[in-house]
Order: sequence, then C-alpha cells, then structure tokens
Amino acid sequence: MEDIPKSHPRYESLMTRKKISDAMKKGLVHETGLIAHGRGEAFDYLIGEKTIPAADEAEKIAAASLIIAKNPIISVNGNVVVLTGMECINLSEEIPAKIEVNLFHRTDKRMKLLTSELLNLGASKVYGLKGDARIPGLDHDRGICDSDGIFSSDVVLVPLEDGDRCQALKNMNKTVIAIDLNPLSRTAKTANITIVDNVTRAIPNIEKWVKILKNEDKNSLEDLISRWDNRKMILEVCAFISKKLNLLF
Ligand code: ATP
Repeated sequence: MEDIPKSHPRYESLMTRKKISDAMKKGLVHETGLIAHGRGEAFDYLIGEKTIPAADEAEKIAAASLIIAKNPIISVNGNVVVLTGMECINLSEEIPAKIEVNLFHRTDKRMKLLTSELLNLGASKVYGLKGDARIPGLDHDRGICDSDGIFSSDVVLVPLEDGDRCQALKNMNKTVIAIDLNPLSRTAKTANITIVDNVTRAIPNIEKWVKILKNEDKNSLEDLISRWDNRKMILEVCAFISKKLNLLF
C-alpha cells in the first residue's frame, strides 16, 4: 500500500482504506467498521465523491440546529474518530458542543483507546466512559451512554448511525442529525436531518456553515429549520443518482 503513487487515480480512497485497516489492527475500529466503510464507499461513488447540493443544504440546516441547541452533542464511533477526529473537535469547539464516544460494539478497551485518541488530538473533554445511563428501548451495550452526555442532550449529531439507535434517540424527543452516504438506510429515513455525504467532507462543511450562521438571529435560524423537508431531500439525492446513471446508459 505504501507503494501507491500519489498520481494513482484512487490514491485518496486507497489511503483512507489503509487508515481504517491500520486503525483496526490497533483496536480503534471494529472489524465490521471495515464493512460499513465499504458500503459507504459504494454510495460515495454513486454521488461522485463530492458534496452534492442537497447535502450542502442539509449541512447548513444541521449547523443552524446545532447553533440554537441548548445542549448539543457529537456522537462518535471508531470510524469517525479515525477519519475525522480532529475535524469533530474543531466543530465541537466552534458550536460549542460536547463529544461522546458511543459504540455499537462496546468494550472498555476500545472506549478507552478512542477517548485517549481524541484527548491526544486536543479534545478538552470526552464523554462516554462513565456509561451511567441508557437509551430506552435499545437492548445490549449500544444503548449505554452518559447521563450528562447523549442522555441529556437535545440535538445529537450522529455520523454513521444504525437505524434502531437513531429511532430510539428520536423517541427521546431529541433532534437527530445523521451523516450517512446511503440515502436508503433506516437511519437516513429516520433522522430529522440526513446528510448524504462522506463524513470527511460533511464535518468540515458543517463547521463552515456554523461560522457563517453563528451571528444570525435565533428566529431566522428557527425559520430556516422549520422549512426543512427531510423526505424531499432524500428524494432529491435519489433523483441525482438516477440522473447520473441515466446519463451513462
Ligand atoms: P441502517 O440500520 O440505518 O439501515 P446499516 O445497519 O445499514 O444502517 P451500518 O452497517 O451500521 O448501517 O453502516 C453504517 C452506514 O454508514 C452505512 O449506511 C454506510 O453507507 C455509512 N458510511 C460508511 N462510511 C461512511 C462515511 N465515511 N461517510 C458517511 N457515511 C458512511
């Protein structure tokens, strides 16, 4: 892999794969994280590996929601920390929002590894290790969270979520912002705001919008959010993909 020349047309993608696979060997990423990444790559290919207009708009609305939230939080898993740990910290400082490590395959070892990784990258505080609360309706360890973290938050940014947890967070009356390259996933269909974009592009772009919108008055941000139609946006993404395929054949 080290032999891949920078001129290789798939250089970025191959280096990202290497990053994820190295992180799995270090125990940061669960082996199923590699499979999730592969599914993401396939959908990224279909949208042209760039932020499409519907995603940019969703990123803007996500930024507005995070700004007006009383207790916003970014929930991160292994893939997210490895691919965009630094960018999540920057975003959390800009909003400001908390960061919590929340894992589908939770072990003490991986929780500690990911927490240390974020602290080493410069995070001032990372939630998740305490695990003293539960998201109602979720069995096994994926429902574990911190009482002063995800449990008591009002707006949760959940990159690469699974559909059940997304629904369970919504059942707690939280606003859920999901980043998922698959517009057809249960998560994409369940979230309040779905961002169909690669997490590596989405997080810095949300930060860009936070900087732009931060000084807008609260009423105009609320107005912006109230006009958001998530289903319409998903249909737009699907139309974008089918138009692209139609042009090919
Ligand atoms: P659901 O329960 O919502 O249907 P799932 O069980 O299919 O989801 P997982 O197997 O947990 O989902 O996979 C995680 C999701 O993350 C996939 O839909 C994949 O497209 C998406 N994904 C993977 N890598 C990225 C990435 N880098 N950026 C954005 N999304 C990604």
